[in-house]
Amino acid sequence: MSLDNAPRYSGGCQCGRVRFRVEGALGDASVCHCRMCQKASGNFYLPLVSVRGARLTWTRGAPKKFRSSNHAERGFCSDCGTPLSYEAPDGIALSIAAFDDPSGIAPTIQWGIEEKLPYVDSVPALPGKTTLEDEGAASFLHDLVSYQHPDYDTDQWPFDQGKKE
Ligand SMILES: [Zn+2]
Ligand SMILES: [Zn+2]
Repeated sequence: MSLDNAPRYSGGCQCGRVRFRVEGALGDASVCHCRMCQKASGNFYLPLVSVRGARLTWTRGAPKKFRSSNHAERGFCSDCGTPLSYEAPDGIALSIAAFDDPSGIAPTIQWGIEEKLPYVDSVPALPGKTTLEDEGAASFLHDLVSYQHPDYDTDQWPFDQGKKE
């Protein structure tokens, strides 16, 4: 298969030390509620998309790996900690939210539901507010400067965070 017309995706960690590119069709997208995915993500569940049928390239840096079992490793940025990969004998999956545009990568199945936390299903019913509606935090939000890497590839790193050197 020629990759010339293949779909392309990019993404990386929060600080930008680790960046990736995926060429080709993404595989199954899922969320996993298992206790290992909860711990590895520090979250209620971990959204992952398989890239086993595509070409994955680490275009800047590479994830540090933690061997979470005899069969799998989990990759993350050693500088900022963003969870990036789940690597098993049958292929690699990447964290959906680490993609520069995760909005089109919708999960189609849940795994590990025996360990789903009891309040997860009620989150969408909670009251919702925008960031700036949080009046207690707004005093520092108005002059907040983000050091998060932008959602596109950059030629240089560290990215110019507005400082003049
Ligand atoms: Zn990072
Ligand atoms: Zn899991």
